Amino acid sequence: MARTPKNPSQKPAPKKAPAKKAKPAASGWSKRTLTAQAMGGIDEETRGVVRPIHVATTFIRDPDNTYSSGFIYGRPDNETVRETERVIAMWEDAKAAMLFSSGMSAATCVFLALKPGDHVIVPKVMYWSLRNWLKNDASHWGLAVEFVDLTDVAAVKAAIRKGETKLIWAETPSNPLWSLSDLTAIADIAHKAGARLAVDSTCATPVFSQPLTLGADIVMHAATKSMNGHSDVVAGALATAKDDEFWQRIAATRKNLGAILGPFEAFLLMRGLRTLDLRVRAASANAMELAKRFTEHPSVAEVLYPGLPSHPQYALAKKQMKGGFGHMLSIRVKGGEASAIATAASVELWKRATSLGGVESLVEHRASIEGPDTPCPPDLLRLSAGIEDVDDLYADLDQALRRATGRSNRAK
Ligand code: PLP
Repeated sequence: MARTPKNPSQKPAPKKAPAKKAKPAASGWSKRTLTAQAMGGIDEETRGVVRPIHVATTFIRDPDNTYSSGFIYGRPDNETVRETERVIAMWEDAKAAMLFSSGMSAATCVFLALKPGDHVIVPKVMYWSLRNWLKNDASHWGLAVEFVDLTDVAAVKAAIRKGETKLIWAETPSNPLWSLSDLTAIADIAHKAGARLAVDSTCATPVFSQPLTLGADIVMHAATKSMNGHSDVVAGALATAKDDEFWQRIAATRKNLGAILGPFEAFLLMRGLRTLDLRVRAASANAMELAKRFTEHPSVAEVLYPGLPSHPQYALAKKQMKGGFGHMLSIRVKGGEASAIATAASVELWKRATSLGGVESLVEHRASIEGPDTPCPPDLLRLSAGIEDVDDLYADLDQALRRATGRSNRAK
């Protein structure tokens, strides 16, 4: 146990050596190995293999009036948060990472770090809450937001306003149609125009894609999803290629808004991250198998999944995503909206819920949640494949589809 001086205000404790910091990836061990051991950090005080949760909101100032620990207050910074950020920065080959209280706060802090009058190019197909914020609220901060087809490199180039465009925001694969953006080409367009490229890579996951290595400046994750993986933490992450003035403005925005992730959530997120590689590969293998099987299903009009050779951007998916195509797919149900809703209503194993990236499989009629101006077709069901037995997952949706569409013939 740590010894506490009887009257800490009069007799400061002798300065202890700082707790052992995480080992750098320079060791040559793989990301999967380092993550399984939370970068090798232990609790030096007890020799425990799990680091403690740091909950203090305020820190002792040294007699010489400095803060030698580097910590002053809990709103800008926290050691448990920093430890989890180091794992995320490693996965993304980033200079640094920051954790936020949600994916939405991570994303909006990027936009809020821009200046009034800045022009931003954002996708027509993207996570709907952020699309709504960009459509309805971003102009309150003086941002000029332009929605562009981010699958079309020529359209992105044409949308650039010389001297005014400061940010291109991409989401790839994009919710819920799973179209892709060519990050290398778009990064080049952004940089030639003096703008930055930020990428919502939530559904690609850092296991399969590292946008910073393709030229992006900032990568964003709803860490609520695959990174945590257990549907019990709301969190967001940003990682950056450069620790520059823009990154520092984002850090200042997080501090000023109090948008940092709480230490308990950061601890849970670290626990989820330890199995990221295993979970994401298992869920992605399930998604791939389901995509193949539903392509043959008599009640399914179309399967949207970047891992299928029939996907219009399959070649780009293979180039940009290494080792897998993610756990997200959508199916379009024959018979239209009513059949899609009836299918979701008939599942027994799949969970009928919003969100994605957990170990449990989720199904959602996406148009119902996104509202009237959604680009999502009404016959679409979004599927987040979990890590259950793929035969069970298929059998459950198969029976639900047959029940909903009135087809008695079991799929091949
Ligand atoms: N980006 C994507 C692709 C998402 O799916 C979500 C949430 O569903 C978000 C961002 C927002 O994340 P959060 O719900 O943690 O704010």
